[in-house]
Amino acid sequence: MLAEFNGNGWLKRLGLTVLEFFLPRMCLFCGVAVGEAAAVAVCPECEAQIQWVASPLCTCCGVLFASRDGADRVCGACQADPPPFSRARAAALYDGPVAQAITRFKFSRQLAFLPVMQHWLKRPLGLELVAAADLLAPVPLHPKRIKNRGFNQSLFLARAFPEAPVAREAVVRTRHTAPQVGLNPKQRQDNVKGAFAVTDPARVKGKSVLLIDDLFTTGATAKECARVLRRAGARRVEVLTVARVEYD
Ligand SMILES: [Zn+2]
Ligand SMILES: [Zn+2]
Repeated sequence: MLAEFNGNGWLKRLGLTVLEFFLPRMCLFCGVAVGEAAAVAVCPECEAQIQWVASPLCTCCGVLFASRDGADRVCGACQADPPPFSRARAAALYDGPVAQAITRFKFSRQLAFLPVMQHWLKRPLGLELVAAADLLAPVPLHPKRIKNRGFNQSLFLARAFPEAPVAREAVVRTRHTAPQVGLNPKQRQDNVKGAFAVTDPARVKGKSVLLIDDLFTTGATAKECARVLRRAGARRVEVLTVARVEYD
């Protein structure tokens, strides 16, 4: 216990310096003071830059249609090649403060961004998916990557929903894969092919499983995880991410 108060390791773990901890609450993105009543440390101006996911979108993969007229429908890609998940939804587009939060949390270990991303996951779309799920399954990282990064961001994000059961190892990585960044859609698909497994099929059999991740890009990782879950007997797989890349 004493060790907790020796030095400020615990503040560092929260992504804070001693000074930040005692200063008035500030917007994580621009530094202006944020009222104590605000749910998270984001000022109205930065919040206004966020592009929330909204209709019209693909009822399956959740892609936003470039033409902002018309109703939700299944997109051409999902019609041609239906994904193994029933729905994939994200809170916002991967841009501005949302992109900043994801990269600074994941690559610079600024854990102060976690509550903000958890808050974004709890928008109505996310809550709807969580309510429909029996189990939350964080997209796994290979142990080698966890060792480098120090944590699995997806597991931390899944903790936004303390009332929902989280099966932290429902899906595991069976091999280390190169980062998806910089790969084209086909390369991304090949890169993650056969990289996941379900170790305990009894855990997911007949269940509705919600995969949790920070970012949906081409959906290659989500599809591969959904495929192994379905093969292991999951009744339905859905996907919830903080962000997704732009329009179709
Ligand atoms: Zn701000
Ligand atoms: Zn689609």
